[in-house]
Amino acid sequence: MRKPKLLKLALENLVSKPATIQYPYEQTVIEKDFRGRHYADLSKCTGCSLCSIECPADTIKMTPIPPDYEVPKSNPRRLYPLINYGRCVFCYRCITVCPFNAYVSTSEHRLADTAKNDSSELSLSTLKKIVKEG
Ligand code: SF4
Ligand code: SF4
Repeated sequence: MRKPKLLKLALENLVSKPATIQYPYEQTVIEKDFRGRHYADLSKCTGCSLCSIECPADTIKMTPIPPDYEVPKSNPRRLYPLINYGRCVFCYRCITVCPFNAYVSTSEHRLADTAKNDSSELSLSTLKKIVKEG
């Protein structure tokens, strides 16, 4: 590149707004249909395992629901799909194939974590806990 052109470019960049943002102080713009963290609503899930069978990344493990949760009669095996977000490719095939529209999708993209990063907390929060008397 010739020197005058280079100088012009340098001066332009000196006064223009930066192309980057100061994340996390400034938030990223999220597209309308962004595929973020998703989880099964266990009040709708029947534990049929179809999403787990169809997952191309093999990241959904059918898991027993802990005994202290009220489970709908439509889920006699008391199983739910546990998603490991560390392996998920966010293709949303699980959401598409679920015959009961049990999946909840969100635009949450901040998935970095030092702890276990799966859907257990979100899914179990959709069920009532059994209150023990005494
Ligand atoms: S979004 Fe795709 S990769 Fe992730 S859990 Fe669902 S089917 Fe599996
Ligand atoms: S396909 Fe739907 S109903 Fe079946 S286990 Fe997955 S979330 Fe539950």
